[in-house]
Amino acid sequence: MPHDPQHDHDRDGAPISRRGFLRTACMVGGGACLAGLGIDKLLTAAQAASPDAGKVAMYWKPLGDGRVKCLLCPRGCITSQGKRGECGARENRGGAYYSLVHGWVSAANVDHVEKKPFFHYLPGSLAFSIATAGCNMHCRDCQNWELSQSRPERVERMPATPADVAILASQQKCGTIAYTYNEPNVFYEYVYECAVAGHKRGVRSVIVSNGYINHDPISRLLPYLDAVKVDLKGFDDGFYRRYTGGTLRPVLDTLLTVRKSGKWLEVVYLVVPTVNDNPRSIDAMCAWVRDNLGRDVPLHFSRFHPDYQLRNLPPTPYSTLEDCWQRARKAGLHYVYLGNVPGSEGEHTYCPGCGKVVIQRTGFTVTANHLKNGRCGYCNKAIPGVWR
Ligand code: SF4
Repeated sequence: MPHDPQHDHDRDGAPISRRGFLRTACMVGGGACLAGLGIDKLLTAAQAASPDAGKVAMYWKPLGDGRVKCLLCPRGCITSQGKRGECGARENRGGAYYSLVHGWVSAANVDHVEKKPFFHYLPGSLAFSIATAGCNMHCRDCQNWELSQSRPERVERMPATPADVAILASQQKCGTIAYTYNEPNVFYEYVYECAVAGHKRGVRSVIVSNGYINHDPISRLLPYLDAVKVDLKGFDDGFYRRYTGGTLRPVLDTLLTVRKSGKWLEVVYLVVPTVNDNPRSIDAMCAWVRDNLGRDVPLHFSRFHPDYQLRNLPPTPYSTLEDCWQRARKAGLHYVYLGNVPGSEGEHTYCPGCGKVVIQRTGFTVTANHLKNGRCGYCNKAIPGVWR
């Protein structure tokens, strides 16, 4: 997906204050990158070289010998003093575990929610999208690898308290904060506090996640989330281990947890040619989604473009995406979409009752919306989603 964050450059290269960050960002109209945000060059060399004091993490336990075990994601990293977990965003300091990315924003944009993608969540609305650095997976096809595979001190970043983020979202006329670009699980405490701060101001929160998180932390966060998008990277554990460094089962468990919570869920499958486009695997995945999440959960097949460690592969052929779309519809899924193919018929929402297009899109833009109070404007069938 075209999720590359746009970085803007501070003209004189000087660090700006938090007030400056707010003032500068708020001068810019919604719907665009926060031009002038000055994401880069905001830190002095000393700041960039050594992360701030960090914040004590919410999910870990001491092992009694100075080492700690992280309980946030299924990796369960065990670290000795001074060492970091696999995501690079958490560190053992003196026998306690710290998040190194709490309160630091490395990318911020105003995006349409369709870019996340959410197609059944406040269509045409804006999301204040923020990222930090690090990831608990190492996908070979990562399309945001500059952020996700970096250490916090190696990317430009600026300080912003959770209250700042909520204020900015609100001032940018964004009804939603989206935690995206890099994996929100690795800045869990920041997501949690921003989501709480947002809710106090009437700003909702959504996460764009790989779903690789333990049951307790996701369950604790869900009450403050309004929608969740999970990337299902493949449907084979061997594939997950080889291409992501993670495993499949915990991702499926997260999908089940989110679905059971009643929070709005959408699933994305990035189709990588010769890697995860096996028709049998696509069929098995669609059947699993239907039987476990239900026919109404939107499933997006996204087009891969060559990036990171898979630059040798071609973009996904349209015929492959079309085949995936047909297979998912044949499996009985009601809302199947194609992503990264602007102008495709697979971008629209079709009413399962009458077959008419109820929401028409081109790329991230909603070009027509025939929903009335969450129902098809033609046949009155209820279309599931968060519509207001
Ligand atoms: S969140 Fe990071 S430190 Fe914690 S278990 Fe996962 S990869 Fe390891």
